[in-house]
Amino acid sequence: MTQAVYEKITDRIISALEAGEIPWKKPWSGGSGGRPVNLKSGKPYKGINTVLLGFGHSYESPFWLTYKQAKAFGGWVKRGEKGTQIVFWNWSEKEVLNEKGEKDKRRFAFLKTYTVFNSEQCEHLCRSKILKEWEEAKANAKVKKFNPIKECEKIVAKYKGAPEVGHDGGDRAYYNILSDSIHLPKRELFDSEQEYYSTLFHEFAHSTGSKGRLGRDGIVGHRSHQAYSEEELVAEFAAAFLCGRAGIEPAIEKNSTAYIKGWLKTFKGDKKIALVAAAAAQKASDYVLGELEGWSFRGKSPKKKAVKKAVKKAKAKSKKVAKKAS
Ligand SMILES: [Zn+2]
Repeated sequence: MTQAVYEKITDRIISALEAGEIPWKKPWSGGSGGRPVNLKSGKPYKGINTVLLGFGHSYESPFWLTYKQAKAFGGWVKRGEKGTQIVFWNWSEKEVLNEKGEKDKRRFAFLKTYTVFNSEQCEHLCRSKILKEWEEAKANAKVKKFNPIKECEKIVAKYKGAPEVGHDGGDRAYYNILSDSIHLPKRELFDSEQEYYSTLFHEFAHSTGSKGRLGRDGIVGHRSHQAYSEEELVAEFAAAFLCGRAGIEPAIEKNSTAYIKGWLKTFKGDKKIALVAAAAAQKASDYVLGELEGWSFRGKSPKKKAVKKAVKKAKAKSKKVAKKAS
């Protein structure tokens, strides 16, 4: 049972990573100001449950509750809503015989799973004071103003043929390969303007890997774990380069460095991979800035052009040979 739970949790996290989501990284407040909270106790969840409840959805409410708790609040879970599994350690005592053959009590820990729902998956939770207060506070809260950073906007304008950017990502930021579009949380939800632009530049970097642009393996190729990790490194480095160009480096440096370090650890300190990723990131940031030599903004590779030319030449030659032969 315990092993199965561990595997399930790990699989969920890995699949989130593979889907381009970093469960433990969120530079914006997700509309709730942070951690998931149990609606009944009013206490934040801890440890792995924070992670399990923190991703894979775009709920603004930080409140989670069980099916039973929804009933106790006078409401219910909406039809067809799927719950999220969380875990708790439970302790039990067992009588065992010790070395002397005497009866002894020993404590055992085992994992118990629970299914919870976000308060937005429920209706009519009218008996919850916490929820009422939060909803009122949310309605009264002044919307934080977003002040565009000039130097960053210049970079945005330089990216010719850029994918469309929508602020409709809920609490997620991602690049959609199929529709060639970037989706971000609302700009006001980011901790700072710097965080917003560094997230945007990160997604810009991913988008340069598309087929019509630089055609990087991590985007167009087989999305193996290795290719995925490499692509994330490329995006992080490229975002750091672009932020440096915009002069917002100091504000995000700490965050970005910690993040890159985390990834480097997964590569077990293989310095070669870091260099390869940095070179690819340079190319990606140059592409965004329109400074990549030999590349038109449609991303036609000069290599491909050269190959086409060579093929044409070879064809012409073979035609000549064929003519001579006939
Ligand atoms: Zn990414």
